[in-house]
Amino acid sequence: MAASCSVLCIIVLILQVKCNTIFLEMNTPTPEEASFLRRYGYLPEAQGDIDFSYTPQSLAEAVRKMQQFAGLPPTGNLDEETRSLFKKKRCGVKDIEKSPRSRRYILQQGWGKKTITYRVLNGSSTLEKERVRELMALGLAVWAPHGGLRFKQLDDGHADIQVSFASKDHGDGFPFDGPGRVVAHAFPPPHGAMHFDDDEVWGDGADEDISDDDVTDFFAVAVHEIGHALGLSHSNVKASVMYPYYQVPVEKLHMDDILGMQELYLKEELPSSGESTERASRSSLAPHFTQTADSREEDLPDLCLSHYDTIQAIHDKIYVFEEEWVWVFRDRRELEEGYPRRIHDVFIGLPKHVQFIRAIYQKINGNIVIFSGRNYWEFSRRFRLVRRGRASEFGLPRRIELTTAFLSNYNNRTYLISDDHFWRYDEQRDAMDRGYPKHMAAWRRIPTPVEAAMVWKGDTYFFCGPRFWRFDNELVEAHEYYPLPTAQVWFPCEPTPEMNKYLTNDES
Ligand SMILES: [Zn+2]
Ligand SMILES: [Zn+2]
Repeated sequence: MAASCSVLCIIVLILQVKCNTIFLEMNTPTPEEASFLRRYGYLPEAQGDIDFSYTPQSLAEAVRKMQQFAGLPPTGNLDEETRSLFKKKRCGVKDIEKSPRSRRYILQQGWGKKTITYRVLNGSSTLEKERVRELMALGLAVWAPHGGLRFKQLDDGHADIQVSFASKDHGDGFPFDGPGRVVAHAFPPPHGAMHFDDDEVWGDGADEDISDDDVTDFFAVAVHEIGHALGLSHSNVKASVMYPYYQVPVEKLHMDDILGMQELYLKEELPSSGESTERASRSSLAPHFTQTADSREEDLPDLCLSHYDTIQAIHDKIYVFEEEWVWVFRDRRELEEGYPRRIHDVFIGLPKHVQFIRAIYQKINGNIVIFSGRNYWEFSRRFRLVRRGRASEFGLPRRIELTTAFLSNYNNRTYLISDDHFWRYDEQRDAMDRGYPKHMAAWRRIPTPVEAAMVWKGDTYFFCGPRFWRFDNELVEAHEYYPLPTAQVWFPCEPTPEMNKYLTNDES
C-alpha cells in the first residue's frame, strides 16, 4: 500500500515537473523574440548574455507591456496571438523610450516653426519617385491643419524631412530586415529623415488591392512616419495612426493623434483673440458638451470653467469630481453615457456627511480609497464599501488632511499629498517609506498646491485649476511643453481666448 502510494507520488511529481518545464518553455521568448522586446523598449538592453540578464518575471513583465501596448489582454503569456505580433509588419521606431535623455530629446519635440520643407530623394522599384512625391503631399496634408503647419516641397538641397527608400544596412545604425516585419522608420525633429524598406513591395492604394498581404500600402505607412518626423511617438490606441503595427486603410487621424499634435504645436497654433476663423475650425474638434444624465438638474457645476475638486484615473477611465457630482470619461473628452451622477450613487456606502471628494486613488489591487477629513473609506472594484479607518493608519500624522493622492506606475508607490508636502507609502510593505514628508519643490515646475494627480496611459499628470502638467518621472520635473489648458484637453470644452493665459507657469 505504502509502496504504491510512493510510486504514484513520484509519477505525480514527474508530471508536475514536466508540466512546469513545458509551461516555462512556452513562456520563454526565443532569442529573436527577446531581441524584439529589447528593440522596441520593452526589455532593457542586455549586458552580455540574455540568460544572465533577465529573470522569468522581467520577461513576463515585458510581454505584458507589449500586450498592453498592442491592445491585447496583458496576461504575460506568449499565446498564439501574442506571438503573432513578433511577425507582423510594423514601424521600426521604439514603442517605449526609457532613457531620460531620449525621452527629452527624441520624443515630443516639434519643429518650432510653421513652414517645414520636405524632399523625396528616390522612388522604390515598384513606386516611381513622382508618385511618391504626390502621396507624400497627400500624407502631409492629413497632419497640416492640426499643427497649423505648411509643407514646402524641395527638388534639391537639404530639406527638414528627407524621404528615401533603402534596404538592409543603410548607414544610420538601424538596418532594415528584408521583406516583412519592419517596413519603415523615421527620425523626430531636428533630424527628420524618413526611410522606407526597399525590400517591401510598395503599393499605391489608389489602384491596388491593399488587403493583399504581400503589398505594403505606401500612403498608410507614410502618414504614420510623417507623425514621427513631426515629433510624435507611438500610441497604444489601436485606432490611431501612431499605433506601431501596420494597419490599412488610413483615412483620417484619430483624436489621440490630434491631441498629440496639439500638445506639440498648440502653443504656436493658439490664435490671438482676433483670428476668429481659425478658432472656429479648431472648435469643430471639440464635441459639444452634452449633459446627458441630469440636465434637468439646476446648478450643475460647469467643468469648462475648470471648477473641479479632483480628477483621478480609476479602472482606465477618467473620474472628475466636483461637489457631490462625478463625471466619468472613457477617454479624454469622451464622456460616458449617464454622467454626471451623484457620488453617493456611485460609491455605495460612502457616508452622507462626505459631501465632496478631494483625495481618491486606486490601489494596486484595483480597490479605491477615498480620504476625507481624518478618515478613509476603501471600496471594492465594484464600488462597494469594504473597509473604513483612520488616515493615520497609513502612517500620516494625526492632524494632516490630504489634498491629493495617487499611485505612481513608475515605482508602484502611493503618493499622499497635503498642501506643499508629500509622503510616499509602500502598499506592499503596508508602511510609509522613510525620509518623508518632502516638500513639493522636489518635483520641479509642478505648482503647489496641486488639485489632482493621476497616471493616465502610462504618464503622470498634475492638475491645478485651469492648467495641467505632464511629469517626467526620470527627470523629476514637468515636461517642457507644459502647462496646457485642462478644460480643452481633458473635458469637451471649446477653445477660448483665455486659454492662452494658461500656457505659462505664471499665476494670472
Ligand atoms: Zn512608428
Ligand atoms: Zn534608416
